[in-house]
Amino acid sequence: MCKINSIYVHIPFCLRKCDYCAFYSETDNNYNHFVESLIKEFEIRKKRFDFNSVSTIYLGGGTPSLLSFNQLDKTIDMFTLLRDIKEFTIEVNPGTINYNKIKYLKNIGINRLSLGIQSMDNATLIFLNRIHNTTDNINVFNNARKAGFDNISVDLMIGIPGFEDELEMTLDRVIEMRPEHISVYILTLENNTKLMQMVENRVIEMPSDSVIEKQYMLVCKKLKESDYSHYEISNFTLNGYESKHNLTYWNGGCYIGMGPSATSYFNGKREKNIANIEKYIKGIENNTIIMGEIEELSKNEIINEYIFLHLRLRRGLNINKMNRKFNLDFNNDKSDFLNNLVEKELVIFDREYLCLTDRGFLISDYIFSNLIY
Ligand code: SF4
Repeated sequence: MCKINSIYVHIPFCLRKCDYCAFYSETDNNYNHFVESLIKEFEIRKKRFDFNSVSTIYLGGGTPSLLSFNQLDKTIDMFTLLRDIKEFTIEVNPGTINYNKIKYLKNIGINRLSLGIQSMDNATLIFLNRIHNTTDNINVFNNARKAGFDNISVDLMIGIPGFEDELEMTLDRVIEMRPEHISVYILTLENNTKLMQMVENRVIEMPSDSVIEKQYMLVCKKLKESDYSHYEISNFTLNGYESKHNLTYWNGGCYIGMGPSATSYFNGKREKNIANIEKYIKGIENNTIIMGEIEELSKNEIINEYIFLHLRLRRGLNINKMNRKFNLDFNNDKSDFLNNLVEKELVIFDREYLCLTDRGFLISDYIFSNLIY
C-alpha cells in the first residue's frame, strides 16, 4: 500500500452556479447532514488506510466557505489526530465570508487560503455569474492579511469571451496585492453549462487560439517581471510558496478524496466517489462509500500519467529516472517528435530533464498526446 500524502475534501455546495462551471455542486443547504456523513466517511477510510504520513489537506468545492463556524470546526476536528500537517488549505469564495469567519479559519488551524477572485473587473464577474464583485475581492484579501494569513493563493481566469482587454488591469491589481501564489486557468467550455449553451446558440464566441496565446504569454511575462516563478503550467509562486498539496498530484503521490465526486489515487488505482449528494449520504448511512467510477490503470496508463504530470512542472521530466523506473528508452522511442519540439523551441533539455517552454505549456495537450506509450 502506498503512503497517503494528501487528503482532498469536496464540499459540494454553492450559492448559485457560475455559468462555466462543471464541478459537482448543489445549491441546496443540507450542510449539517453532509458534514456528519463526511466524518463517517473518514471513519470508514481509517479502517482501510494509514493516514499517518498525510502532510496536506485541502478543503475545496463547491464553496467550503459557506459552511458555518460549527460545521467548519467539526470538519477540521476530524483531522486533529494527524500530527504532521504542513499545509491546510481552504478555498474561499470572496462573496461568502467576512473578517470574523476568516479569523476563525486561522484560529482553527487553516494555514493557507485559496481565493477565487477570477477577475478584477466587475463586468467580467457578472458575465461569469460569480456572486462577488471586485470590492469583495479586495476586502477578502485584506481581511485575510489582517487575520494573519501569510500564505494566500489567488485564482484568476483567462480566455473569457468578450473580456480579453481586462486582463492586464486584473494582473496589475493582483500583483499589487502580492499574494504568495497565483493560479491562472484558461476558461474551458464544459458540457451542460450555460456557457456551452450560449456558444451553441451563437450568443457568444469563445476567444481564438491566438487571443489565448497572447493572454497566456502576457500572464507569464508580467508575473515573471514581478518575481513570481512559473513552476507549473497554470501556477506561479513567490519563493517557497508552491502548493504542497498540488505537488502531491503532480509528483504522482497517493491521495484520498472525500465527499461526493472526490477522486482518490493509490496503488495505480483511481476511485471517484459518486457525484450525487443524496446517494453519497445514503451510502455512508449504510457504512458504504459509493463509487461513481473505479479505474485500474494499466502499465502504459501509469507511464503516460507519469510523463503528463511531470511535464506540467517547470522542473520537467527526469528522463533517466523514468527510464529506470519503467525500463524505457524514452529519447530513442520518441526521438523524431522530440527533435521537432526542440527545433520549434517548445521544449528544452536541461541536463537529464525534459522541460516545456511557456509556448510548449500552451499546447501541452498536443505534446502529451504525442509522447504517450
Ligand atoms: S463557486 Fe466554484 S464550484 Fe461553485 S459554481 Fe462557481 S466555479 Fe463552480
